[in-house]
Amino acid sequence: MSQTTRHIVIVGAGHAGGVAAATLRQTGFAGAITLIGSERHPPHERPPLSKELLAGAIPVEKTYLRPAAFYGDNRIDFRPGETVTAIDRAAQRITLASGNVVPYDNLLLTTGARARRLSLPGADHPRVLYLRDITDSLALREHLNAGVRVAVIGAGFIGLEAAAAARKRGAHVTVLEIQREPLQRVCPPEIGQFMAALHRRNGVDLRTAISITAIVDADGALALHLADGSTVAADIVLAGIGAQPNVELAQAAGLVVEDGVVTDEFGRTSDPHIFAAGDVTRHFNPLLGRKIRLEAWQNAQNQAIAVAQIMAGGDQPYAEVPWFWSDQYDVNLQIAGAPEHWGRLIWRGGPNDKAFTVFAARDGIPIAAITMNNGRDMRPARELITRRRPIDPTQLADVVVKLQDLAKEIGRG
Ligand SMILES: Cc1cc2nc3c(=O)[nH]c(=O)nc-3n(C[C@H](O)[C@H](O)[C@H](O)COP(=O)(O)OP(=O)(O)OC[C@H]3O[C@@H](n4cnc5c(N)ncnc54)[C@H](O)[C@@H]3O)c2cc1C
Repeated sequence: MSQTTRHIVIVGAGHAGGVAAATLRQTGFAGAITLIGSERHPPHERPPLSKELLAGAIPVEKTYLRPAAFYGDNRIDFRPGETVTAIDRAAQRITLASGNVVPYDNLLLTTGARARRLSLPGADHPRVLYLRDITDSLALREHLNAGVRVAVIGAGFIGLEAAAAARKRGAHVTVLEIQREPLQRVCPPEIGQFMAALHRRNGVDLRTAISITAIVDADGALALHLADGSTVAADIVLAGIGAQPNVELAQAAGLVVEDGVVTDEFGRTSDPHIFAAGDVTRHFNPLLGRKIRLEAWQNAQNQAIAVAQIMAGGDQPYAEVPWFWSDQYDVNLQIAGAPEHWGRLIWRGGPNDKAFTVFAARDGIPIAAITMNNGRDMRPARELITRRRPIDPTQLADVVVKLQDLAKEIGRG
């Protein structure tokens, strides 16, 4: 970082913003740091919001990255409950909703993403809920009691995790998915089928290839009208239909945006004084050779660390195999890689086993892996993907051959 950088302003105090602020101090950045976030909570992690917090197993404070006092103690001017409304790039300053203006030498955008809203008649009913932040999680939890009928729209990760939490609390759960299988955006159909069976075993009425035409309030009970003419009765609806990046600030300021603020592998946007990290970015991943946008803990954590280090004068790019996990009932699912097509899978074990791993390969090179209750395979699987070397698929499929040994062999070669 140049000698002239005295003030770094971070917009968005979620996971990536909180990690970046702490990393700047840890790397010895001695200038001023201002961390501005719309939410009233200190920076926190979101995975528990659809799991432990939603199930009522932990208090809100457990989601915090660091105690609230950390920011003051480390000379980080943390301003919760403040929204940034404009960036003036020429003058290098931002404007807050309160009207205050804050100058910056360098700016970091960590504005994340928001839940995509349903668009159909009745979608504005107050008992149609979303799940993105702590307030959403606590509001949904209020409703998740024994016997309550919950209709979940969307069998993506958020919808399925919420369905599992709702079942844990004794609610009746119907999940409605427009695609033929759950998780189709991120998993191959075989894994979607496995997850569908898991939910049905746990008492969820999961219906796929179905679309909803309207939500009607019939004397207090909600009726979801489906395109096939049937209806589903519910007390509350949770819409888990994806997220969209909070790019409006960047867009209005004229930064390059393509469903995400475009950055290189160093987190640099099209303005040399503005960086970005986390869910809001469409960043270049050198391992994949293309730009990707991720909604994942690992990316919020490690991209934020990498970009903060760059802002503090470092020179190491962010280059990792994307990694994501989900917990539902007694199943831990992990995904490494972000393949555009899964193609034919290489199975280590199978869906009838307690634990198994599957790989996707292109030209014999592993490009992605999914572990199901088999997290110990994940580290070597990621290493195999990172190395980008062809591997004999019969070896990959052979459960007697340890992935650790394959990874070691490839590392030596
Ligand atoms: C319910 C849920 C469960 C998840 N579970 C998993 C999981 O199991 N595994 C996994 O790998 N990932 C999971 N994720 C994804 C992971 O949590 C996100 O990728 C991560 O939170 C992204 O961090 P971020 O800092 O980029 O965005 P966020 O954490 O969303 O933070 C962005 C912050 O910016 C603020 N902001 C936006 N605009 C402005 C503005 N103009 N001014 C001021 N502040 C602003 C927002 O209010 C927000 O606080 C989950 C996400 C959710 C929502």
